[in-house]
Amino acid sequence: MAHRPGLQFLHTPGPTHIPDRVQNAMHQKAVDFASPDFMDLAVSCFDDLKPLFGTEGEVFIYTSSGHGAWEAAFVNLFEPGDVVLIPETGRFSRVWGEMAEALGLEMETIPNDWRHAIDPGAVETILRNDTEHRIRGVLVVHTETATGVTSDMQAIRRAIHAAGHPALFVVDAIASWLTTELPIDAWGVDVAIAASQKGLMLPPGLSFAAVGDKALAAAKECKTFREYWSWNARLGVEQYRRFCGTAPEQHIFGLREAIDILGEEGLDNVFHRHRRLAAAVQLAVEAWSRGGALEVNAVRPEERADSITAIRTTEGLDAEDIRRVAREVFDVACGGGLADLAGKVFRIGHMGDLNDPMVLGALGGIEAALGYLDIAHQSGLADAASHLAETAPHLIEPADKRQYV
Ligand SMILES: *Cc1c(COP(=O)(O)O)cnc(C)c1O
Repeated sequence: MAHRPGLQFLHTPGPTHIPDRVQNAMHQKAVDFASPDFMDLAVSCFDDLKPLFGTEGEVFIYTSSGHGAWEAAFVNLFEPGDVVLIPETGRFSRVWGEMAEALGLEMETIPNDWRHAIDPGAVETILRNDTEHRIRGVLVVHTETATGVTSDMQAIRRAIHAAGHPALFVVDAIASWLTTELPIDAWGVDVAIAASQKGLMLPPGLSFAAVGDKALAAAKECKTFREYWSWNARLGVEQYRRFCGTAPEQHIFGLREAIDILGEEGLDNVFHRHRRLAAAVQLAVEAWSRGGALEVNAVRPEERADSITAIRTTEGLDAEDIRRVAREVFDVACGGGLADLAGKVFRIGHMGDLNDPMVLGALGGIEAALGYLDIAHQSGLADAASHLAETAPHLIEPADKRQYV
């Protein structure tokens, strides 16, 4: 491969950019994972993950992709034949639902056009009609990475409550964790699922389940065979059990550093930064869209995700062409369209270790790709930059603003 000068801009919605501090922290020799030093470090991670989920419950770490933690939620909480409600949001809700069926669960859904959030009213109606309480869990994707739509978790919690239904509330927060607020105890979420390669800024390879008291109690009753995924087994007395096997040491070194970085920035600032960067991206896409060839996939502005923007192309324009030129010619890697959206959307990830010029750089590269392909568009860079200027934190007060006009 020929040398490519400069930075390659990674804007896939996972994996995301890994900060040097995290990568350097991982650059360590193997250690004895039963040593007190390593165990103390691991225990500090388990403890310090809790506030990142807003929980006083338990957080479990798996050496797996997010799919592993998805499966963990099923096998710890439900038994074959149980009914779960998984409202459709896009490709990820669909695949999670297929996993439910593969594990012998009965899956109900609420159809969706992949451009709108889950309708809490529809959830409430289904639960109200379930007078025998056959539905054991409501499983929802918070931010659907395939569509760039975020659903309202508090509204869904209220819907479950309004229906007076005892179902467990399980949230796939893989694309929203550490980009968008989701304090699980305060919001009545029983289980949140996350993974390392998105907002956490780590390499792929770890997944997480944050589990509240109601779900821990349900897991104690659940008879489904399980061992690696078992929350009960992992809460056993031996520390060794916490990972159910050899600890993923280098990932834990990186995790410690990532938690420290998040602590230094402050969670509220992390959420605020993601919101600003998302708004800048969405303003740019709106300007591009005035040419008539593109459109933000999420129809309602208030449902647009803080971590990922999916952009639809007009009929006859292959979104893969834009993605290929952006990556191969302008060094900006975006996500492609998944499943029903293949060729119809490309996706800009804006989660994790990003600042303003990184996002402006990515937008510039994509805009150059639109020009290269002669796709009608208006420039969106000025709108994005103005928004960032208007909403920037006030670190510097110009001595006398008049001198700048
Ligand atoms: C990325 C993602 C997944 C899958 O995570 P893997 O680590 O690839 O298994 C699931 N759900 C959502 C919402 C995601 O963004």
